[in-house]
Amino acid sequence: MVKQGKVWLVGAGPGDPGLITLKGREVLRRADVVFFDRLVNPGILIWARPGTELVDVGKEPGGKRTEQGAIGKKLIQAARSGKQVVRLKGGDPFVFGRGGEEAEALAKAGISFEVVPGVTAGVAAPAVEGIPVTHRGLSTELVFKIGARAEGSVSGRTLVGYMSVEGLKDFLEQAVESGFSPETPAALVSKGTCRGQKTLVSTVANLAVDARMAEIRAPAVVVVGGVVALRKWIGQQNRGRLAGQRVVLTVSKALGKGWRQLFEEHGAEVWELPMTRILQLPLRESWKKEVAKAKWIVLSSGAGVRSLSGIVEDVRKLAGKRIAVVGRSTAEILKTIGLRADFTGPGPGAEALARRWPGNKPDPVLHITGNEEGGGFADFLKKKGYRVKRLVVYRNEGPQQLAQPVREALVKEGADWVVFSSGTAAERFRRLVPSWPVEPKVAVIGPVTARKARKVGWKVRALAKQVSAEGVIQAILKNIQ
Ligand code: SAH
Repeated sequence: MVKQGKVWLVGAGPGDPGLITLKGREVLRRADVVFFDRLVNPGILIWARPGTELVDVGKEPGGKRTEQGAIGKKLIQAARSGKQVVRLKGGDPFVFGRGGEEAEALAKAGISFEVVPGVTAGVAAPAVEGIPVTHRGLSTELVFKIGARAEGSVSGRTLVGYMSVEGLKDFLEQAVESGFSPETPAALVSKGTCRGQKTLVSTVANLAVDARMAEIRAPAVVVVGGVVALRKWIGQQNRGRLAGQRVVLTVSKALGKGWRQLFEEHGAEVWELPMTRILQLPLRESWKKEVAKAKWIVLSSGAGVRSLSGIVEDVRKLAGKRIAVVGRSTAEILKTIGLRADFTGPGPGAEALARRWPGNKPDPVLHITGNEEGGGFADFLKKKGYRVKRLVVYRNEGPQQLAQPVREALVKEGADWVVFSSGTAAERFRRLVPSWPVEPKVAVIGPVTARKARKVGWKVRALAKQVSAEGVIQAILKNIQ
């Protein structure tokens, strides 16, 4: 059976390609197929990968149109065939965009989907012309309303209240005065899209009391209207298991590609605070000689691979030599410069590779590494009588400090999870944020990192079985079951 794909209902913004959200652009980049509307500026579609299927389901007034029901079916079909599907809509998908109907269809079909909100035209178009849609002293109410009503639609209203936790009772009374019945569904959404996101669903008559009982705090918005009832359908699929949780990723920028996406897909609020940065040392002539002399070259990271290609300039100079890597991820990076590893260590770390060393004693070994990795590999082989040299070609540096507001927020509010992919990161992060309101749960990429993290005082709660972002997520999800 094919693994079912997922659908993202993405707001493209009002037109200017720069006004799609970062998240919208990211999912667009990963899509296998994009279904877009007439209102979407084609300039945005260039962010899809070349070869991505781009399907126009636009509804030109009076022209050819794809029926709404047919669009839903297409989305479902594409997801069922295992594709990553982006449904790109002008502005925000849920503002007069029929995105709600599509979400409902997907929910009923059991397809997982996610909404990526967009900048709605009703705010953006006036703004760029110098018209603020609200202004202190001029308006306390903003109404979005449909001009030409579509066939079959009934009139009804949605009321959204800002700054309404304190005056919730008054706000709801006014809603009744303006024509909403007390039985109308009403919801209070606090800290939406952020850590601690909470939603309380009730009715106009009861929401104020319920909110006091539940101790819902600002910032929050109130929503009044029949649309609130849709949450029952649409909300379930749309909420990842890490929703409302803050996850700090300390993985390096280069290694961490794709990590943010994966965590966001599970609903987390992600803070990327890389604790490692690789600085390649200036190339030395002597390094070329060392490489020329070696029979075996040992690489323990992607940074080492990059250094090697810088040293030799032309990979043909490596003809006749053998290359060993510490683990599978380094092997993968090696492939990107057109080389296949002759030997892949069992991981993690170079010492595990040393214990299984496949070379012959007289063959000179060169270990290309960074300042942070100790000489354990070379020491081990030397003791066994091999000819081995350690060549430090890059430095691994951490940030001196975190930006003040970032540090303060962590010290005050904390985080739910912190993810480490190396012991060094665990140590550096401990130093940068020494105290927490509640110790965050820690997830690590493997046993070596776990050991080092514990040594500096972290309580490791999730240990990945597989050295990857996916492995870490699986370990975390298992922990929160
Ligand atoms: N989901 C969209 C609205 C779709 S309805 C959103 O959130 O913006 C389509 C209507 O939106 C158009 O008829 C027009 O009134 C308005 N609209 C969309 N893009 C616009 C733009 N760039 N400038 C002005 N109005 C726009």
